[in-house]
Amino acid sequence: MAAAAGRCGRDPCGALCPLLTYLGVGYADYAVLAHVLPQPALRGSPWCPFHAAAFNLIVLLLLACHARAVLADPGVVPLPDTAIDFSDLRSGAPRKPERSQEDWTVCDHCEAYRPPRAHHCRICHRCVRRMDHHCPWINNCVGELNQKYFIQFLFYAGLASLYAAGLVLAAWLGPAGRSPAGMAAGGDVANNRVQTAHCIILLLESLFFGAFVTVVFYDQVMSIITDKTPLEQLRNRGLKEMNREGPRPLKPKLVLLREVFGRGFVLCWLFPWSCSTAPGTGPMYSPLPSRYV
Ligand SMILES: [Zn+2]
Ligand SMILES: [Zn+2]
Repeated sequence: MAAAAGRCGRDPCGALCPLLTYLGVGYADYAVLAHVLPQPALRGSPWCPFHAAAFNLIVLLLLACHARAVLADPGVVPLPDTAIDFSDLRSGAPRKPERSQEDWTVCDHCEAYRPPRAHHCRICHRCVRRMDHHCPWINNCVGELNQKYFIQFLFYAGLASLYAAGLVLAAWLGPAGRSPAGMAAGGDVANNRVQTAHCIILLLESLFFGAFVTVVFYDQVMSIITDKTPLEQLRNRGLKEMNREGPRPLKPKLVLLREVFGRGFVLCWLFPWSCSTAPGTGPMYSPLPSRYV
């Protein structure tokens, strides 16, 4: 947490959004357990304990993925220990847009000597490898090393929203929920109103966050399988307009997905831990160009 706070601690939105996430998830769990599952249509069902356990498991995985996305290093490019004069590197390398994508560059903002596809984050004040975007919901950049956890967080948030909305609809539309006997079994009128109010709030929360995370999830998956981050899509659009976009070999989609989610068993993609069969085989990064080492 200290590392994440050190990276992006000065962003007030980055402090507020994770808090809203925890409040939203906490409320959803409370509403499901205290007001949706005790509804007449669900509480007598043998599936009721299963729904309680399954929803809590999804919430647990959601929070674990969120914590990993917040705390993990997104792929911050290390800075050299001592100040290095990169002026010859800057002035000696003429800008060739069609080849520059393949070359290491020096950041104008933090002076990091960075690999291809690294970008500077103006909130973290550091360069991040294959930076996708800075996300206030995790108070961190989404980059090469934590994109998997971010996507898992979106997946479980979407799943929890769908599950909660489904339970509310089942409570309302189920046979016991519609019958007068079922309504009477639900307790006094005031209690029924409170439960109905919580069900409506939960349904609206689920629809809003469910739609939001679905859109972001789709964007993330598309950026992986097209092998272009949003920043690169913007830059390529500019290069295309100048007719200077360089050729780029397109990898198979499964290879691109494995680069993000790991090379282990596909089922491991659902869990917030490393599932690479060959740890440490990724590209090596040096904070200095070879001529300075
Ligand atoms: Zn930088
Ligand atoms: Zn950032």
